[in-house]
Amino acid sequence: MDKQRDFVLRTIEERGVKFVRLWFTDVIGTLKSVAIAPAEVEGAFAEGIGFDGSAIEGLTRMFESDLLAQPDPSTFQILPWRGEVDPTARMFCDLTAPDGRPAVSDPRHVLRRALAKAADAGFTFYTHPEIEFYLLKSSTLGPDGPVPVDSAGYFDNVPGGTAHDFRRSAVRMLEDLGISVEFSHHEGGPGQNEIDLRYADALSTADNIMTFRTVVKEVAIEQGVYATFMPKPLNNHPGSGMHTHLSLFEGDVNAFYEAGAEYQLSLTGRRFIAGLLRHANEIAAVTNQFVNSYKRLWGGDEAPSFVTWGHANRSALVRVPMYKPNKGQSTRVEYRALDSAANPYLAYALMLAAGLKGIEEEYELPPEAEDNVWSMSDTERRALGYAPLPASLDHALEYMQDSELVAETLGEQVFNYVLLNKRKDWEAYRGQVTPFELQNNLGLL
Ligand code: GLN
Ligand code: MG
Ligand code: MG
Ligand code: MG
Repeated sequence: MDKQRDFVLRTIEERGVKFVRLWFTDVIGTLKSVAIAPAEVEGAFAEGIGFDGSAIEGLTRMFESDLLAQPDPSTFQILPWRGEVDPTARMFCDLTAPDGRPAVSDPRHVLRRALAKAADAGFTFYTHPEIEFYLLKSSTLGPDGPVPVDSAGYFDNVPGGTAHDFRRSAVRMLEDLGISVEFSHHEGGPGQNEIDLRYADALSTADNIMTFRTVVKEVAIEQGVYATFMPKPLNNHPGSGMHTHLSLFEGDVNAFYEAGAEYQLSLTGRRFIAGLLRHANEIAAVTNQFVNSYKRLWGGDEAPSFVTWGHANRSALVRVPMYKPNKGQSTRVEYRALDSAANPYLAYALMLAAGLKGIEEEYELPPEAEDNVWSMSDTERRALGYAPLPASLDHALEYMQDSELVAETLGEQVFNYVLLNKRKDWEAYRGQVTPFELQNNLGLL
């Protein structure tokens, strides 16, 4: 720890860093930042930097509003988009109460607590996200809504196209920030892109996702376009998912791997999937936290709508990806409901808790769904036990409010805040008279 602090202080000195941004995340998943002068960093390490938590979404109740941001020196990086002159660096922070105890409302703490529980059971949790987003010409809406930068599709190579340059700059910047990128390509929708980060422990991944969103927004500004992580920005095109590949390791050993088993998937892996399936609806208000999230989940285009698992099946909620022979360490499961606008700390904490519950309670994995569940009738699906995911935020909140697993994993304060905040969103949405209604109902009867 002290070595890392020394490294940070030395680097600030050597590189002439002029500003250090302290980053943390509110309960909804918005990145917060406060810049301090280099001279303050040593003190920040020793005592934290105080701020008024009540001004930030979900962080405190009014009567206990003082919080401290404690920079985590292992996350120190110089921000490439700020340029060489007067370099700016950043560190992620853990939030504490004035008495030094972790702030119960800090999403990073919620994930740390879930990871500690996994560690007690001997597991390290690794994650690898595939992040989809749209590039638009600007944030101004055209007559048909958002205007994408191109009309290309899945894996299209667009010579000289915005998306191409965009991905090159974004990937380079991510690598400069120590975030490894595995793949990047044009996705199915016009202007839609995907960038996949290399697997890392879940806390680093969640930090990386927060950095990723900022990088993507910054590069977009630089290139005169607009990036959105909205789950379903266009009516007739795919939404933006954040499929995440999950695995548990016991030391160096992948606990999901078993040579010779079906899909090389161990009993632990099967139980983990069973946990994800059983609790999927309870965690949905966090993995898919906006009114708009459910337009993606129920919009087809390879987003899951039913609680099923499968192998090559892209309508499934959980998929066990193709394995490479002799590559047991890469056995993993892909959770496909999560969208690009989730708070990654809270979502990963809940996905982990659901999977662990399956292991602890030895849940049995139902048979895999072979067919495209979309093409079945309701009766067929019911007969096979394929339950639907929540159809709306309102529906997801009903599941969540009764969930012991979610209450326990988020802690009382975050749990209550999410319910309250999301109910408000739903009520505001429900109160709207939409263009759809006006178009279809004004001339009624
Ligand atoms: N965009 C799809 C989703 O919303 C995923 C498409 C894909 O990567 N196969 O989940
Ligand atoms: Mg992908
Ligand atoms: Mg994709
Ligand atoms: Mg995928």
